[in-house]
Amino acid sequence: MLKARISTLEAEGKNALKTVKTIADLEAWEIKYLGRKSELGNILKSLKNFSSEEKKVIGSLANGARQTLAQAFAETKARLLEQSVDWEKERIDVSAPGVAVACGHLHLITQLEHQIEDIFVSMGFTVADGPEVESEWYNFDALNVSPDHPARDMQDTFWLQRDEPQKENFLLRTHTSSVQARYMETHTPPFRIIIPGKIFRNEATDASHEHTFHQFECLMVGDDVSVANFKYIAQAFFENFFEKKVLIRLRPSFFPFTEPSFEFDISCVLCDGNGCPVCKQSGWLEIGGAGMVNQKVFEAAGYPRGKYQGFAWGFGVTRLAMMKYKISDIRLFMGGDLRFIRQF
Ligand SMILES: [Zn+2]
Repeated sequence: MLKARISTLEAEGKNALKTVKTIADLEAWEIKYLGRKSELGNILKSLKNFSSEEKKVIGSLANGARQTLAQAFAETKARLLEQSVDWEKERIDVSAPGVAVACGHLHLITQLEHQIEDIFVSMGFTVADGPEVESEWYNFDALNVSPDHPARDMQDTFWLQRDEPQKENFLLRTHTSSVQARYMETHTPPFRIIIPGKIFRNEATDASHEHTFHQFECLMVGDDVSVANFKYIAQAFFENFFEKKVLIRLRPSFFPFTEPSFEFDISCVLCDGNGCPVCKQSGWLEIGGAGMVNQKVFEAAGYPRGKYQGFAWGFGVTRLAMMKYKISDIRLFMGGDLRFIRQF
């Protein structure tokens, strides 16, 4: 009886499989004929109740039927899966042109910062860094700008609001010179450093004024550093940066943190000193301020008065970028207009 039933089940299952058209149908078939609770499954589970002789015969018969059905099931499944694929849709045209991947790049200012760093590093400078939110001490006091000094009015400052009275006032640094004081506190001369960074001025913006821009500070301190060293390094830097011969001109000036102080100009890189609208026919471009570090700044950093000499020099990367690429509006750099950014 049972032997006949197994044969019937096998034939029935094979027949039923022929009418299966979908994967869902196939899953239902699998449960019915091969599942744990299927009739064949129950027969296999009940083998333990038979004598060992019967177990042998019926067991081999039931297992054989199971294997046959499993084999048929696998074949049907493979056939259905293949039929379910839309080969036309899946076709890949390997000769079709690819889709360009949008790729960003470094901002012009960052590119120039890297270029400037490379030039200075090749002259033995190291790159130093400091915080953009600075204390009043490092931004002003340590640089010999005393509380009642009129020089504090030279720069309009973004002061940070205080929730409760503190000992110190904080601000957005108005120059990268604040890092000078920080660096000198922890380093002993001789050293030569550059400090690239963002600075902030609380002023109205127009084509040549921006509240946030980028500056470089250059500081070289040793036993016998002189103005001649500054002039040589400045000239070497600008000739490298603009890739042409550049002359340097110093004019007397005043900064609290340097003594003597000077403004310095370079020969106009657009007209080579012959006169053009950019240099207002003068042949010279104003670049920045510099000077020999005031001994009071050294004292504030903890150095003995008169032991060291050095020069300090600040110039704007944004301004250099405008000169190099003939950009007439400073607001374009931080304006976020991608049509501008993508040109560099
Ligand atoms: Zn010119």
